[in-house]
Amino acid sequence: MHLFETEEGDKWVCVSCGQEQAELIEEKKWEFIFDKDNPMLRCSICGQGDYEIED
Ligand SMILES: [Zn+2]
Repeated sequence: MHLFETEEGDKWVCVSCGQEQAELIEEKKWEFIFDKDNPMLRCSICGQGDYEIED
């Protein structure tokens, strides 16, 4: 999960949204902070995690 600093605060963005929304992220000038591997994190764009969690 990528963490970006945005005008609305820090946002997590999953790997697939990071690729799909690359233009939007650049356009909005979101600043990349760091990556974190944590299956509990949820993407602020699609609401999903980086990984499927199986019960
Ligand atoms: Zn996403």
